[in-house]
Amino acid sequence: MADQAKNLLRELPSVDHLLHHPKSEPLLARLNRDYVTQQCREILDELRSAIRQGKSVGAKELAEESILSQLETRIGLDREPKLIRVINATGTVLHTNLGRAVLPQPAIDALCRVGSSAVNLEYDLAQGERGRREEMIEKLLMNLTGAEAATVVNNNAAAVFLGLNTVANGKEVIVSRGELIEIGGSFRIPEIMAKSGAILREVGSTNRTHPEDYEEAVNENTALLLKVHTSNYKIIGFSSEVDLTQLVEIGKKHKIPVMEDLGSGALVDLSRYGLPKEPLAAERIALGADILTFSGDKILGGPQAGLVVGKGTWIKQMSKNPLHRALRCGKLTLAALEATLTLYQQSANIVEEIPTLKAFTRSLKEIEEMGERLLPALQTALGKEFRLSLEDSTSQIGSGALPTEEIPTKVIAIQHDGMRAERIAQRFRGANPPIIGRIKDNRFLLDLRTIFDPNDLIPNFKQTGS
Ligand SMILES: *Cc1c(COP(=O)(O)O)cnc(C)c1O
Repeated sequence: MADQAKNLLRELPSVDHLLHHPKSEPLLARLNRDYVTQQCREILDELRSAIRQGKSVGAKELAEESILSQLETRIGLDREPKLIRVINATGTVLHTNLGRAVLPQPAIDALCRVGSSAVNLEYDLAQGERGRREEMIEKLLMNLTGAEAATVVNNNAAAVFLGLNTVANGKEVIVSRGELIEIGGSFRIPEIMAKSGAILREVGSTNRTHPEDYEEAVNENTALLLKVHTSNYKIIGFSSEVDLTQLVEIGKKHKIPVMEDLGSGALVDLSRYGLPKEPLAAERIALGADILTFSGDKILGGPQAGLVVGKGTWIKQMSKNPLHRALRCGKLTLAALEATLTLYQQSANIVEEIPTLKAFTRSLKEIEEMGERLLPALQTALGKEFRLSLEDSTSQIGSGALPTEEIPTKVIAIQHDGMRAERIAQRFRGANPPIIGRIKDNRFLLDLRTIFDPNDLIPNFKQTGS
């Protein structure tokens, strides 16, 4: 090592010195000493390795004053939350990577209410004794779907897992090969089945499964017939599946329950709003499903949760399974879910009150008008080197709902002669808050379907200094 580097290393102040500097006092009054010490060490380590690598480090940077001001900046950045608001202009309404459903206002109010106080989560106010935490959700779900019983767990993956473990641990479950789905984030039916203790019995082929296939597979060790909504793909062409009605018939004949994993599972018929139809929970119950599971944060538009409805005998067993305790929801989820389901029960205009449904059902005209107002403002904000245009495109529902269906939308396409679309996208991601769009044909697109406040799309590049 050069002598100069050795001298610089010798000049580095010690952690102790830094902590006893008068400038550290206010920091140590607010923050715990271990944390501040650790931050000091990290800065000193970084300086030391920079010096060793021969990077140009001036004596000024080694002064205590300078290190302490670095310390303050570092601590300030550390305090900033890392889970932050972003603007979803991707056109995928339910984007799993962006947190899926945006909650309705009453659900947000409920989160604050129960987060800041003691609540009667498992306390029966009438009797003054222990109560059941899921009770209010169960009643709402029964009311909304016509099911005999209901329960709720952490997410739909947990609901499927719990159902399989409760009904079919050590026994066979018959599933069509056309329904052995994988959902993003490593939810695979064969794997979840193996972990639950159930034995997968595949029948049929990828594109065609017939009632006889199930009939022939039934034996004394069969515990369940499982139907899985192929929510993120569609088999088209020469294909046939056994529908729920047929499956329920086979189940009745052999006294075997039928469980359906609906995936999204809607509580309102979206075809009323000109959208393609997603299976309705109430209809599936009416068709005779014994157990039905679906997500709280997909088309339903509520918090992450796994909703389970069906016949009393099975649901009761699922609630009593010790795994239910491991998969249960916390008070925040239950409060947000109660508020969301209450809207479904009471609201005269549900598509206005649930942001997810609002995004799906918004008229193209409204989106276009917002785009026309936004265009000049965005042009001014970006500068004239950027070429902007308002164009037709299609949005997706996302999160594995209606995979082949697209909803017409309007996008603002952004181009720049000296900048590739990836670079434009990167700049928008660096804005505060970050704006996430999509790239198509080397153009950066901002999809307006999920944008309700046009100001959200005027990027603020300053604070993060992209
Ligand atoms: C989304 C989905 C799941 C997983 O649901 P989560 O709520 O994300 O756990 C399971 N099955 C199907 C068919 C799905 O579409």
